Amino acid sequence: MIEDYLKNITSYTGTKILLDDFVKNKIRFYKGYRNQDLGGLSENYVSGLSPAISRRIITEYEIVKQISKHVQYNDVDKFIDEICWRTYWKGWLEHRPAVWHDYLDDLTYFNDNNKKYDIYHRAIDGETGLECFDAWVSELKEYGYIHNHARMWFASIWVFYFDIPWQLGADFFYRNLLDADPASNTLSWRWVSGLQTKGKRYIASKSNIDRFTGNRFKFPENFYVKEKEIIDSRVYEPRMNIQYQNSSPNYKKGILIHEEDLSLSFVEKNIPIMMQYKTHNPFGQTSLPVDLANRSIENSIERCKKKFGSNTVTTFDWSDPQKLRKWISDHNLEMIEVTAPTVGKFESLIPSTLKNMNVEISYKYHDWDLSFWRFSDKGFFKLKKQIKKIVGPLWDGPLFSGV
Ligand SMILES: Cc1cc2nc3c(=O)[nH]c(=O)nc-3n(C[C@H](O)[C@H](O)[C@H](O)COP(=O)(O)OP(=O)(O)OC[C@H]3O[C@@H](n4cnc5c(N)ncnc54)[C@H](O)[C@@H]3O)c2cc1C
Repeated sequence: MIEDYLKNITSYTGTKILLDDFVKNKIRFYKGYRNQDLGGLSENYVSGLSPAISRRIITEYEIVKQISKHVQYNDVDKFIDEICWRTYWKGWLEHRPAVWHDYLDDLTYFNDNNKKYDIYHRAIDGETGLECFDAWVSELKEYGYIHNHARMWFASIWVFYFDIPWQLGADFFYRNLLDADPASNTLSWRWVSGLQTKGKRYIASKSNIDRFTGNRFKFPENFYVKEKEIIDSRVYEPRMNIQYQNSSPNYKKGILIHEEDLSLSFVEKNIPIMMQYKTHNPFGQTSLPVDLANRSIENSIERCKKKFGSNTVTTFDWSDPQKLRKWISDHNLEMIEVTAPTVGKFESLIPSTLKNMNVEISYKYHDWDLSFWRFSDKGFFKLKKQIKKIVGPLWDGPLFSGV
């Protein structure tokens, strides 16, 4: 039931229940049926884990480790590839932050000029008259989720059939999706539009939608999506900016937790912990994702208090950095450890907030990201070739004898 799902997906324990259920009942069918969108999550063979993965309520490492206890690698390689697609998009954008900044600039321009796109307003109201499209709009607004294949059809119809700039579509998704993520969202929209892989764009077709939705939708006569080139001559060269700073044992340190990483992976015993208590929302996300983000943060605070003691945890909000300053001074902190923010809303907020607080900053990275991001500068294939080698050691048993 959707209420149970929405409750579970905001906590570590709940997400593990969802993962266990997926591993027990669906993962074996993922390879064959993952593209089917026959209705809600319960009818489909995908995991629904993305809102938890995108906040790192559960880490990719924990997911793969858990799967490895129950299923052979070769039976679930497709699922692991998909987990790695997210890692790849995150790494690709870390190599090219300008893609995100240009997208935000484009968006400002298109938002100021969107009146000329009459169809844009009908599209976001779900009143285009194209049954499948309007149904996906309702689904997005009601549940904050649409199946991956439907996201592809949706974006393709948006760009190539309705002829609306992809940036406005990416923004509509970002504001409504529970799993909204600057990398996966922006780069998927660019991919559909043909801007990620030269000469390759994604064109939706009636027969494909019919086949993978069980003929659920009626189409206007002669419906077809026409291929065209989306012109964007900007070139983005990769450059990775890992902001390491090794923690020194001599420093008096505290840890700062923000909503991009609720895993508590870097928390140690007996150090002061500062946690963000509500979501930071600079890009106008709607109440559905905002509520879910807030519940996820609350649950993570509770988990942290249980694990490390409630008196070690202080909470703050990004709109009130004075509280952060006071915490630093009350504890005489010389260094703040914080998960390195990825391209998006915290990328400059975290360094600029901490800049004048008279502390060193130590940026922490998950090994998972560091292992994969060095292969994320080009196409997915470069990273894909490394997946078995990297996740191999997580498998229990001699499944990787050839590696
Ligand atoms: C236009 C468009 C916009 C998208 N926007 C987002 C977004 O904002 N946030 C987001 O997390 N994903 C986004 N995706 C990717 C994908 O649609 C979702 O990750 C997936 O539908 C989530 O459902 P799931 O957890 O049931 O996926 P599963 O199929 O169960 O996959 C497991 C996990 O793998 C990752 N994953 C799966 N497919 C993809 C993919 N194609 N690209 C990247 N990661 C993937 C996700 O973390 C997902 O939770 C977008 C895709 C498209 C085409």
